[in-house]
Amino acid sequence: MRRSLVNSDAPVLRKPAAAVSDPAVVRDLAAELLETMVAEGGVGLAAPQVGVGVRVFVTGVDGEQLVCLNPQVRSSSAKQVSWEEGCLSLPRLLGEVIRPAEVEIEYTDLQGQSCRRQADKLLARVFQHELDHLNGILFPDRMTDRTKLRTITEEEWDSRFESAARAPE
Ligand code: ZN
Repeated sequence: MRRSLVNSDAPVLRKPAAAVSDPAVVRDLAAELLETMVAEGGVGLAAPQVGVGVRVFVTGVDGEQLVCLNPQVRSSSAKQVSWEEGCLSLPRLLGEVIRPAEVEIEYTDLQGQSCRRQADKLLARVFQHELDHLNGILFPDRMTDRTKLRTITEEEWDSRFESAARAPE
């Protein structure tokens, strides 16, 4: 089942989400998040974006889908990169955010197994962006210069999300 995204001013987007104690409880939610992410043309989606304040996000980068429960950053590279981010919860807004180029995250999968995953490029960016959602943080909060937040047209927005799976060079 595809879920509706909550509005950008929904309080759930601003609250730290609750830890998942039993993976079985979020199995249906995870499937719905994946379906919704694909339908929206996104590369990541966090549970608070559909109004559920639990620590679950999904990603879909380079044809690989991941479901991450209770994710945490284990290490991040000293090297930082600037990348223009968008967010399904903030339609038509884009802004440059500087973040570590590589991260290693630890999370629990739907089988309850502890997993570690090293990521660079787009996946590293998506991990960090989605983790922020679980802590009530939206990407404009991370911008060093918020005057550079820009609004694009509906057409540009749609085309961006169609091509979002491509990592920049
Ligand atoms: Zn987002």
